[in-house]
Amino acid sequence: METIDCLIIGSGPAGFTAAIYAGRANLSPVLYEGIQPGGQLITTTEIENFPGYPEGVDGNIMMDDFRRQALRFGTDIRSGIATAVDFSSYPYKVEIDKEKTVAAKTVIISTGASAKYLGLPDEKKYAGKGVSACATCDGFFYRKKRVAVVGGGDTACEEAIFLSGLAEKVYMIVRKPFLRATKIMQERVFNTPNIEVLFEHQTLGLFGEEFLEGATLVKRKGEIDETEVKIAIDGFFLAIGHHPNSDIFKPYLETDEIGYIKTLPDTPKTKIAGVFAAGDVADPNYRQAITAAASGCKAAIEAERFLKTK
Ligand code: NDP
Repeated sequence: METIDCLIIGSGPAGFTAAIYAGRANLSPVLYEGIQPGGQLITTTEIENFPGYPEGVDGNIMMDDFRRQALRFGTDIRSGIATAVDFSSYPYKVEIDKEKTVAAKTVIISTGASAKYLGLPDEKKYAGKGVSACATCDGFFYRKKRVAVVGGGDTACEEAIFLSGLAEKVYMIVRKPFLRATKIMQERVFNTPNIEVLFEHQTLGLFGEEFLEGATLVKRKGEIDETEVKIAIDGFFLAIGHHPNSDIFKPYLETDEIGYIKTLPDTPKTKIAGVFAAGDVADPNYRQAITAAASGCKAAIEAERFLKTK
C-alpha cells in the first residue's frame, strides 16, 4: 500500500494553500481533488475581497492560480474522491473512489461544504430541468428568461446580480422581511431594475409539464393575511447556504450539530493527532476564501511539526 507523508483531501483555497506550504516544507504532499475540483469558488463569478487582486478576479482564474502554485512546489494533484477513512490505527487509511486505499502519516481534511436544497420533492423532479444550485454554471441557459433565486444572503444576492445580466427578470424569494446579505450586496440588488425581491415568501412547490414553468409560493405564512402566489419562471436557483462535507469522518472526529468538524481552539488540530481540518468543513463562522486559505496554511505547518516529532 502506498504511504503518503501528507495527504490533502479537497482542492479549494484551504487544500491548495496547505499543499503550497507542505510542498515548500518538503512533505511531498498528495492532494485528491474531490467531487468539485477547485471547490466552491469555481461556481462564483467575481471575487472582490481576496487580497492581492485589486480589480477582482474570476473564481476559475483564482483557483487555477492556486493550483499552479501548488504544482510549482511539487504537489501530486490527483483526481479522486475520499470515500471512507480509518483513523483507528497509524498510519491512517483513506479509501479513494471505493477502489483503493492509501496510508497517510498526516491527513489534512479540506473537503469544504456543498449547497443545501429546500427538501421539496419537486427539486428532484426538475433537477437539470430548471432547478440548479449554481447560477454561474447554469445561468447561461436562462438568457432572456425568468428565474428565481431562493435566499437572502450574500450568495443569493451575488447569484441574482449575475443572473440579472442574462435573464429578463429575476425574483429573489426571501423568507424574512429583510436580506441577511452585507450592505454593499443589498444596495446592488436594490439598484438592479430587473431584480424583484419577494420578502416574506416561501416556496411550496414547483410546476411545469416536462421543464419548470413556475413556482407556487406562500406569502406571510401563518399570518392572517397569508396568501398563495404563483410566479412564472424557467429557472429556480437555490442559494440558501451549504452543509459541510464531513460525513465520512464522523465515526472518528467530533462535529457540531450541523456537521462542522470541531478543532482545538485557534488551531486546525482535530482530536486525532496528525489529522487536521481546514477551511469550510471546520468553519461555521467565517467561511471565506481568505480564512480557508489561512487555516490550510496552519494545517500544513502543524503537519510538518507533527511529522518532526514522529
Ligand atoms: P447564509 O447562511 O449567509 O444565507 C442563507 C440565506 O438562505 C439566508 O437568507 C437564509 O434565510 C436563507 N435560507 C436558509 N434556509 C432556508 C430555507 N429552508 N428556506 C428559505 N430560505 C432559507 O449563506 P450564504 O451562502 O449566502 O453565505 C455564506 C457565507 O459566505 C456568509 O458568511 C457570506 O457572507 C459569505 N459569502 C461572501 C461572499 C462575498 O463576500 N463575496 C459571497 C458569498 C458568500 P434567513 O436569513 O431567514 O436565515
